[in-house]
Amino acid sequence: MSRDLSSLRQQLEAQLNILEDRGQRIEQRLSDPGSPDWEENATLHEDDEVLTALSEKAEGDIQEIRLAIQRIDEGTYGTCVRCHSPIAVQRLEALPFTANCITCASHA
Ligand SMILES: [Zn+2]
Repeated sequence: MSRDLSSLRQQLEAQLNILEDRGQRIEQRLSDPGSPDWEENATLHEDDEVLTALSEKAEGDIQEIRLAIQRIDEGTYGTCVRCHSPIAVQRLEALPFTANCITCASHA
């Protein structure tokens, strides 16, 4: 593979750090019993659903990125985890932490 996997790994790790950081901040907000400013507090509660959705999405992304880094380390990066076909380079460029080739992804 001609792609520079070590720089990709660094990029994924940087992204992972950002997501973990964001996830922690979202969880802090969700677990915060409330701000003394009731008006702000009301807004926070309205946002709870949005924040929970964001936090769940971030967790999914974090998991995906961790697995992608693991696949780089194992030397299986760029190979579909389902059918073991090579994943198209264009697809990896668009979705660096994808684990499935386009065929498997479209059958998901
Ligand atoms: Zn596949």
